Amino acid sequence: MTMISVAEFRAEVRAWLAEHVPAEPLPSWTDQAGFDQHRTWERTLFEGGYAAVDWPEEYGGRGAGLQHTIAFAEEYYRARAPERVNMGGLYLLGPVLMQYGTEEQRRRWIPDLLSCRTIWCQGFSEPGSGSDLASLRTRAVRDGDHYVVNGQKIWTSMGGFADWIFALVRTDPDAAKERKHAGITFLCIDLRTPGVEVRPLAMVDGTEGFAEVFFTDVHVPVENVVGEVDQGWKVAMSTLGFERGAVFGDHAKFSNDVAALAGLVAVRGLAEDSLALDELGRVLVETEVYRANVYRLAALAEAGGNLDSTASINKLYWTEMQHDIFATGLRLMAEDGAVVGDLAGLAGVDAVTADAWRDWHHRYWYARAAMIFGGTSEIQRNIISERVLGLPMEPRRS
Ligand SMILES: Cc1cc2nc3c(=O)[nH]c(=O)nc-3n(C[C@H](O)[C@H](O)[C@H](O)COP(=O)(O)OP(=O)(O)OC[C@H]3O[C@@H](n4cnc5c(N)ncnc54)[C@H](O)[C@@H]3O)c2cc1C
Repeated sequence: MTMISVAEFRAEVRAWLAEHVPAEPLPSWTDQAGFDQHRTWERTLFEGGYAAVDWPEEYGGRGAGLQHTIAFAEEYYRARAPERVNMGGLYLLGPVLMQYGTEEQRRRWIPDLLSCRTIWCQGFSEPGSGSDLASLRTRAVRDGDHYVVNGQKIWTSMGGFADWIFALVRTDPDAAKERKHAGITFLCIDLRTPGVEVRPLAMVDGTEGFAEVFFTDVHVPVENVVGEVDQGWKVAMSTLGFERGAVFGDHAKFSNDVAALAGLVAVRGLAEDSLALDELGRVLVETEVYRANVYRLAALAEAGGNLDSTASINKLYWTEMQHDIFATGLRLMAEDGAVVGDLAGLAGVDAVTADAWRDWHHRYWYARAAMIFGGTSEIQRNIISERVLGLPMEPRRS
């Protein structure tokens, strides 16, 4: 299908969102009831043809380019539409399947992840294997047309809400004696398979769904391997590249956050305070730089450029910027050194500002976590120094 112009598409999206975005914001997705409501919303989005505008049409996408994708995201955040919840499927597994999956796997998994019939989580980290991911020990042993999986994953975001997990498993332990990145396989596992146990992990901000996942003699069909057996490290690096790289359009989310921060500054009576305005100005400039960079990367990608070296820079930048936005809010809103609770009822507080503040603490904690998941800021700095700047490698064990 020939795609309409970006301007026409933007108008179409704006009209659709005006008609479909729930008038009342959905409850937070951070407990099961709120998550289920977001899942229902995702279904509406899918049926409207907006689940993934830049994905191929044959898998349920819209077949649009990056400029359309950016326009969609800008409109989505402008309309304050619900937060997306199938991050593992949408931003990680989907792109990986396009790159490494078989045609059968794409047709089997992608439409369901786009409509949120299937929620996916990421099973990479293990106790003792986080930054040093290649040291992972979960074992998968071939038995006829199945693998038998034993081991444990940890820090699994949305594990408690998910239906499937894409996991890294060790299929050839002998290969690891030579090189620990060898002998790893990328395997998709249905969490309802006998022998899988998902145990909740408590979060400091009360968010539910975070989990650890245990596998005891779990039988997984061999056709669930993505990419080549024993070559999963390549697939894992591609997944992390997608996790760290640009999500085209998310600058609009940060712009909303800075606008909310400006509202909070006003509520606090600091609109004329030069120190507060300095702080506000700093985060505004940070988000504008990020926005300009998203446009730059989109143009580069459309011109066929390689974005590999930008993923770690991007992740380091947006996670530290996001932390700065929320930490600044907490600082400016503090009263006698203590964090201010609910704003509702205070003079001059409109509903959008009160809502923003209600969510601010949760977003602050999430911002701290974002500097850890997908590879910590220290690891991103190592990657940038070694692989982008060509500085000497840090000493490593094999
Ligand atoms: C909220 C949250 C959600 C997550 N979700 C998922 C998920 O869905 N799936 C999943 O698989 N994992 C997930 N993770 C796990 C995440 O990927 C790991 O926590 C992360 O990779 C760090 O590993 P670690 O916790 O084992 O810390 P470690 O690797 O033990 O690191 C501890 C500290 O040492 C530093 N460090 C380690 N090595 C180096 C080095 N070589 N140079 C300099 N500093 C170093 C680190 O930066 C860190 O500060 C999540 C984590 C969090 C916090």
